[in-house]
Amino acid sequence: MFKKSKLIKQTALLFAVLCMADLLAENSKAYINGSIHTFDENQTVADSILVKEGVIQMVGSEADILENIDDSTKIIDLQGKMMMPSFHDAHAHPIWNGMDFLQCSVFDLFSIDEIQERIRDCLEEDHVKNSGWVIGAGLNAGLFPAANPNKSLFDEVSEDIPIYIEMSDGHNALVNSKALELADINKETKDPFKGIIERDPITGEPSGTLREPSAMNLVADVLPTETPELRLNGLLYAQDLASSFGITSMIDAAVNEAYLISFRDLAERGDLNLRVTACIEYGRQHYVQEFSGFENIYKRRSEYAHSRINTNCVKIFIDGVLEGQTGAILEPYLDSGSYGQLYFAQDELNNAIARFDANDTQVMTHAIGDRAVRSVLDAYQHAIKTNGVKDNKHHISHLQLIHENDIPRFSELNISANFQAAWALPDEWITEINIPELGIERVNRMYPIRSIHDAGGTIVGGSDWAVTTMNPLIAIETAVTRQDPSNRVEGTLNKNERMELTEMLKAYTINAAEVMHQGHLTGSIEIGKFADLIILEKNLYEIPHNEIGEVRVIETVLEGNTVFRID
Ligand SMILES: [Zn+2]
Repeated sequence: MFKKSKLIKQTALLFAVLCMADLLAENSKAYINGSIHTFDENQTVADSILVKEGVIQMVGSEADILENIDDSTKIIDLQGKMMMPSFHDAHAHPIWNGMDFLQCSVFDLFSIDEIQERIRDCLEEDHVKNSGWVIGAGLNAGLFPAANPNKSLFDEVSEDIPIYIEMSDGHNALVNSKALELADINKETKDPFKGIIERDPITGEPSGTLREPSAMNLVADVLPTETPELRLNGLLYAQDLASSFGITSMIDAAVNEAYLISFRDLAERGDLNLRVTACIEYGRQHYVQEFSGFENIYKRRSEYAHSRINTNCVKIFIDGVLEGQTGAILEPYLDSGSYGQLYFAQDELNNAIARFDANDTQVMTHAIGDRAVRSVLDAYQHAIKTNGVKDNKHHISHLQLIHENDIPRFSELNISANFQAAWALPDEWITEINIPELGIERVNRMYPIRSIHDAGGTIVGGSDWAVTTMNPLIAIETAVTRQDPSNRVEGTLNKNERMELTEMLKAYTINAAEVMHQGHLTGSIEIGKFADLIILEKNLYEIPHNEIGEVRVIETVLEGNTVFRID
């Protein structure tokens, strides 16, 4: 991944040194003979476009375009291929999870043996040898009953080296005995505010699973300090991945000041190949390490703004997750009778959201359970009552469960529904955790993308990378089929919620661009907008739906410049 970045930079340098004419040519490009899906209001399909200085100048027929070029225009024959606006990922964690991939990543491992083997390999890697810790993420909670693995899983790998691995949902972690010892977590340690230290039912000893940031941070606080280099390298890793999937715009769904510094540093170097909306985490979850003093960062947020970085966004976690039963629900979990937990009392949330709304700051929220969704919709409604109707484009992520009475409220309150469609399939998180804990009736209402859309709500798409793949085409296929694109698991999750392909492509282009307050600049191929474009290997409209996720992006263009290409 890093090699590729360097290669692109070196190539650019070579151009500059070698030939001024080539550089001029890069300033003006005509893409002809394509199937160019513009995603303008009329869903126009054109065959050619003209780009100058990174901006779309003309959209039309090949004849029209060729009449308007000059000697400096580089002509690119699309050979009938599909071109469309590049993707916008409306929920990702490029730095936080980018760093995980440079440490001990156990994402996409589906057996305990594979996980242990991977961690054994990590013990031999430099990052562990240098830091003395195994730090990582991606543990698949669905492999363990009640999402409750035991520290013995890691103790079998090492009793001397402390191990801290987050589950792929980012809301739970498993540690070994050595890590518990170094963090001074024992039988006597009380559960922290809104956090759970899972315990052995007989001895009361901590069993290794820590739920929600306040509990995870008991260990995270004693981890070796994360360096600016690690953050920047994590961001570059994520950015390369994004370019390879055709993503040129992204919402970072929880930043602290250190992350803002990484974005700004990369942008000032001229190497930020993403348009970023960075949402500063509000509240007391201290989700991200080294997060301190929200008010201080919020006050100074404009210091980190840049033509590619919008820092006028706040992220609020409303509840936890269903695995581990921290997600807030209207009817109780079947086995425990618990209703999960809300992070904020309603008054507190109402006041916070009304305040940001009055400041013209966008509020992005995490809500998993139907009680959390209702609570945040109520808070957005309160903001309208307090401030009148504004255009801050607030949105809610995840939306695993929504009460049917709340479905029309997305449209009524103009709140976009930010779905992670790659989750909408019957994998082990659903079958092994959600069905036993919530029952089939609720599971059959999960991720109601179509219902929100049909009720007039706006759908936007995000990966929540690295919870699941960053590849938008896999999420889009899942939204259209409600089945596993990899065929690893069988079955369909609630086929009534299947979406139309065009609507899902809009969710990842124009709709997400609007939510990012850049709908006038990106998200469709229209005159005056940035040439943020992708070329696809196959036309998505000419293949069966279950092949969408396999289609490769063969070129990604940001502001007229190629940032990724398969040769
Ligand atoms: Zn997230």
